[in-house]
Amino acid sequence: MIESTYDSNFVRRFTLMRWISASAGFVTALPKRHQRALIALAAMLLVAAFLPSGDRPHSSTPLSLEHLVDTDAPIFEQPKFSIRQLKAPWTFDSVPAAETLLVPDTGTNGYQYIVRKGDTLGKIFERLHLPQKTMYQLLETDVNVLALDNLMPGHTLVFEKQNQKLQRLELQFSLAHKVVYTRKADSFEFEEIRIEGDWQEKLIQGEILYSFTGSGKKAGLTQAEAQSITQVLKQRVDFRRDIQRGDKFEVLVSRQYVDGEATGNTKVEAIRIKNRHNISAFLFEDNYYDEKGRNLEKAFQRYPFNGKYRLSSHFNPRRKHPVTGLIRPHNGTDFAMRIGTPVVSTGDGVVTRVVRHKYAGLYIEIKHGQSYKTRYLHLHRSYVVKGQRVKRGQKIALSGNSGRSTGAHLHFELHKNGRPVNAMKAKIPIAVSLTGKKKNAFERQLKDYIARLDQPKNEQQLALSNKGEKSAQSTL
Ligand SMILES: [Zn+2]
Repeated sequence: MIESTYDSNFVRRFTLMRWISASAGFVTALPKRHQRALIALAAMLLVAAFLPSGDRPHSSTPLSLEHLVDTDAPIFEQPKFSIRQLKAPWTFDSVPAAETLLVPDTGTNGYQYIVRKGDTLGKIFERLHLPQKTMYQLLETDVNVLALDNLMPGHTLVFEKQNQKLQRLELQFSLAHKVVYTRKADSFEFEEIRIEGDWQEKLIQGEILYSFTGSGKKAGLTQAEAQSITQVLKQRVDFRRDIQRGDKFEVLVSRQYVDGEATGNTKVEAIRIKNRHNISAFLFEDNYYDEKGRNLEKAFQRYPFNGKYRLSSHFNPRRKHPVTGLIRPHNGTDFAMRIGTPVVSTGDGVVTRVVRHKYAGLYIEIKHGQSYKTRYLHLHRSYVVKGQRVKRGQKIALSGNSGRSTGAHLHFELHKNGRPVNAMKAKIPIAVSLTGKKKNAFERQLKDYIARLDQPKNEQQLALSNKGEKSAQSTL
């Protein structure tokens, strides 16, 4: 909770305490009966002073809101506090330094808010005294991207207002990925922006001491990279039995940079663990294969249910709203089905969201390996929880009609590398092994990977033989 440090109640309490101690001497001089009555009276006063008073001002109001409320206020609803209270120092949770909640954004005319632990959009809007109506307008648009209900500490929101209304909201996930909501009359349009940036390759080598994850991180892998490697290899490798202390490993990762800064986005391209099993995995067209071209990822099924249901609305990224004419992409495929129809996961994966959304209704998101995600909307009930591992074909929910829905149906989405794709047409991992032309292309890629995995050792030898001379290719 946010608590004002200058609190009028505090001053009242303090004065009272001093009065009590000063009176103590006087009290002891009185007869016993009077002493008891006075002590009881003092106790009552003390209790009253510590009780919160009903008309206490909103001490949870952040100071820096002045940026938003002082000039053309009304859209941010009449503030429920006075400017004097706004100027009182305050602290946020137990953050020692009272940082301001909003700072001017350099790229726009807006103000930045950095998402903190425990924040939800609702809480942020309340804290910033933004109208709930505006939040619902945003959520209505966001049903197509479902970005606003996945706020994480460190994400940035940039609020821009004009003509006394929120005109633009920018949600920055990272330097390379943001979603922009722009007002169009009483509604918002959204645009998802991804910056390709530069992908830089890095070779990470190490030796296993206790666990692969621990040793990998020690050698320079990020937590996410180490995790995705174990996930890729778990189909083939029993990490306890097949990997032993002293085994050497090499991992080729590609990391994204925008303006020289790492975005946190990363791809594991090749993995080699040298032991008697010679374990390896290579990324080829968004899937992992072993050195023989055998797919290491389990196949997907096309439909998120068993049986047949009518496709009632197609995937359409350019769909226009029939009345407003605004672009309202349909990022999924709809299937008409009665409430209570079992919904299954289309692939093996981990549940990343089970959320109740005003417009998307109850929905589930599942992450399948590094490249794929699926979403299931308007559900009636969920059988899974966040963090749970699921198998392809596992019953995860019952279909429903929750949120804003025109009738009982299942809205199903498939995302590949962060973008929604047509789940009915996308090339999903189905083939067990590569054959023909694909196999040839894979083999060329494999050669390239192996050359890059081997190169640094040659370089090291080179460096040894040419002492003092700098290698020109030290960035690999
Ligand atoms: Zn739909």
